[in-house]
Amino acid sequence: MSRVYNFSAGPAVLPEEVLKEAAEEMLDYQGSGMSVMEMSHRSKVYDNIIKTAEQDLRDLMQIPDNYKVMFLQGGASQQFAMIPMNLMKNKVADYIVTGQWAKKAWQEASRYGKANKIASSEDKTFSYIPDCSDLPISEDADYVYICENNTIYGTKYKELPNTKGKTLVADVSSCFLSEPVDVSKYGVIYGGVQKNIGPAGVVIVIMREDLITEDVLPGTPTMLKYKTHADADSLYNTPPAYGIYICGKVFQWLKKMGGLEAMKKRNEEKAAILYDYLDSSSLFKGTVVPKDRSLMNVPFVTGDADMDAKFVKEAEAAGFVNLKGHRTVGGMRASIYNAMPKEGVEKLVEFMKKFEEENA
Ligand SMILES: *Cc1c(COP(=O)(O)O)cnc(C)c1O
Repeated sequence: MSRVYNFSAGPAVLPEEVLKEAAEEMLDYQGSGMSVMEMSHRSKVYDNIIKTAEQDLRDLMQIPDNYKVMFLQGGASQQFAMIPMNLMKNKVADYIVTGQWAKKAWQEASRYGKANKIASSEDKTFSYIPDCSDLPISEDADYVYICENNTIYGTKYKELPNTKGKTLVADVSSCFLSEPVDVSKYGVIYGGVQKNIGPAGVVIVIMREDLITEDVLPGTPTMLKYKTHADADSLYNTPPAYGIYICGKVFQWLKKMGGLEAMKKRNEEKAAILYDYLDSSSLFKGTVVPKDRSLMNVPFVTGDADMDAKFVKEAEAAGFVNLKGHRTVGGMRASIYNAMPKEGVEKLVEFMKKFEEENA
């Protein structure tokens, strides 16, 4: 067996410890005589798995009691519709468009009401976060929507927008649990777990209780109402049971690593290794305005598509995989999520230096 350094944007690297534990428990989960994949989601043993996972997430993020945690399916993309269907009481919402995912969410919301694009960074290929300190927030907006970390373009909000009292909804798919957050500043925090937490198939939604009501847009399916899932503690129907179990293991790993303060420090150190090199290199350069750089997704280019392709190919042969940039931007992107060890980033930078020398 040999494992590569996997810089995929998602599904992405998971902590090796977690994978090993899951392997050990594959055939017989803690004396139950079966795999977690095979057990009833209504069993006592599974109930303990999902309850523990929720409690560990609450501990890690210090989620206040008036917020519900839901483990859902449908990917982050399904939330693009669920959010307006459930929250657009006035049929008005404001969207800040800082990348492809925010744009898709905005376009989807336009199907249900008036979705205003109140700011965008599309003029410069989404390479920065617009100033959000005094935006024209609509008086009757039901919420203000952001994508907090832009997976494709490598930008991150370092300060939340001033929503002028309106509910903030944030897609945190690619920065979930990468650093501490003040949950009380948000109405909704959600993300697909396949970027920074667990296997594809689980979406975690953290929602302030007063936003969870029966007052949804007419025709909203039962399965797309938050109330359905909140009232049933994510067990209205069969949840993505195995995926939740793995997420639970990652939460325990994060606790063992020292929690989100420790992860933030580790992630800052890791990202600095790569950004410092990019800033000093004469071959590679980062594509994002330095103040808005993501700790999780680091896009970079040489400025020459053939050289980029050569780099990606040679990197892969050396065991650094999935470094090709998103098809809409080109170049390279290194996703360095929580589970990417510091050593992986150090070795990547060593490899880049060697490549730069050889191709000077
Ligand atoms: C990957 C991603 C999505 C889409 O996730 P799916 O689970 O594939 O629907 C949405 N938002 C962000 C920020 C992402 O990184």
